[in-house]
Amino acid sequence: MGEAERGESAPRARISFWCSNGHETQPSFAHDAQVPDIWDCPRCGFPAGQDKDSPPDPPRTEPYKTHLAYVRERRSDEDGEAILAEALAKLRGEI
Ligand SMILES: [Zn+2]
Repeated sequence: MGEAERGESAPRARISFWCSNGHETQPSFAHDAQVPDIWDCPRCGFPAGQDKDSPPDPPRTEPYKTHLAYVRERRSDEDGEAILAEALAKLRGEI
């Protein structure tokens, strides 16, 4: 918690990333944070890079999936059923 409170003494830098659709996103990073080479474009989900003129290639085969969808896909069917059962229980107000 203390880290966040000291926001002013830990300046953040905005770094621009561009995806192949030309979307610019500017996440901010703490100065001592490691800036990733690739950032997911929040608008289309394509990978975005810091070089505006040569953004990373978009994923070719699969449409964009949310992280959650990706995680769900990797779960076993058994886990999937448990998640479904839990979701249904929530719908019924049992949880
Ligand atoms: Zn984009």
